[in-house]
Amino acid sequence: MQPRRLTRQVTIGDSRVGFVKIGGGLPNRDGTPTTPAPVSVQTMTSGYTHEIDKCVAEIHKLASAGAQIVRVAVPEKKDTDALKHIIPQVNVPIVADVHFHFQRALEAVESGVHKIRLNPGNINDRQQVIDVIQACKARKLPIRVGVNEGSIIERKDKQKRQKELGAVFSDHKHGYLLAIMIAKLEEYLDIFYEQDFHDIVISAKSMDASLVIDAYTEISKRFDHPLHLGVTHAGPKETGTIRSVVALGGLLINGIGDTVRISYANDPIYEVQDGLELLYCLGLKERIGVDLIACPTCGRIQVDLFTLIQDVRKALAEKVTVPMKVAVMGCIVNGPGEAEGADVAVFAGDRRGIIYVQGEKVANVPEEEILGRLLTECLQFQDKVKKGEAKLGEKKVEIMPPDPLGNLGSGWEKMAAERIKTGEKPIGLTVGATR
Ligand code: SF4
Repeated sequence: MQPRRLTRQVTIGDSRVGFVKIGGGLPNRDGTPTTPAPVSVQTMTSGYTHEIDKCVAEIHKLASAGAQIVRVAVPEKKDTDALKHIIPQVNVPIVADVHFHFQRALEAVESGVHKIRLNPGNINDRQQVIDVIQACKARKLPIRVGVNEGSIIERKDKQKRQKELGAVFSDHKHGYLLAIMIAKLEEYLDIFYEQDFHDIVISAKSMDASLVIDAYTEISKRFDHPLHLGVTHAGPKETGTIRSVVALGGLLINGIGDTVRISYANDPIYEVQDGLELLYCLGLKERIGVDLIACPTCGRIQVDLFTLIQDVRKALAEKVTVPMKVAVMGCIVNGPGEAEGADVAVFAGDRRGIIYVQGEKVANVPEEEILGRLLTECLQFQDKVKKGEAKLGEKKVEIMPPDPLGNLGSGWEKMAAERIKTGEKPIGLTVGATR
């Protein structure tokens, strides 16, 4: 990990919803020193903003999942009007996402929004931009300048379009797109600087992960504003997660990025979960809840691990808040090793689960009792941690595989055969056979 890039600091929020700082490390313009704020996770609601109750419920859901900032779309006046009713009911800073109509930004400011996002690709009338800047300045609200690959190329003025397309970022594989992104940003930010406005966050998104990495890297060399990282139009969750994580992870490893939004076509609650997991994995945020380790399964598997791991994940997500490490392993090959590194662990042997807490064997139960017993052990361990009677990550003894292990071997086949014998649905066979 490279050290975090130092930036100016932007603060978003109010005394009621709380303040979230973005970036930092460079002094404020009045000379006050700042320290870099932890990288924050944000997302955007998927419903209509003017459906006030639903919008409030969605914001609550996203905030509960860990979103520190939530953005809402405001395409119509009824959306900015709705903000007056939404903002007093929520507990996270709200950003108005403004495109095409600068009036929406002015209305959102009047409605008490905490930050504005402007797109230079579709709000570029100089006086309109100045009006928004002045409105935000009067209320001390930050503005995110978000250039997007999809809306950056001039579409109305053919001459301007030709000129822009001729601008090539020399010796760079992304050529004109990167050049246009940087040029638009420079041109746009000049208006902000002329107005002595510096509460700026920058984003430069594309659906191409490598362009995102290049664009943010170039921007980080040219501007000292904090950066909102994101990949746009990333596709469905399955591929969008990878696009986002590759780009954002690469940038964060290089110390670039101050707030992140993972985005794809699915419930935004997953965007929040994935954003948090990305930061946890890179050690940029202290984990809340369980760090779940599971084996990928193979032909040695001794229990239906696919079902078990999902049940464990769901149960622990609802009940465990301390960052304990829990390992769920399909057999003894890696079971003891992983169990040693975990606070609570189970590894399987012949349709049974052997459960350990910090290296001490506490149970050996049949498959159908694994979930319940593991959950009990996790909750008891959590209580001890909270009371100061146990410490996370403290291993007490070396784990040896139990003896005898029973009849191990081709696990999926054995499970499927037993299930068929007892009339159970042969989940193991179906899943195992298609792997
Ligand atoms: S722990 Fe066992 S079942 Fe799981 S992947 Fe490793 S060898 Fe296979």
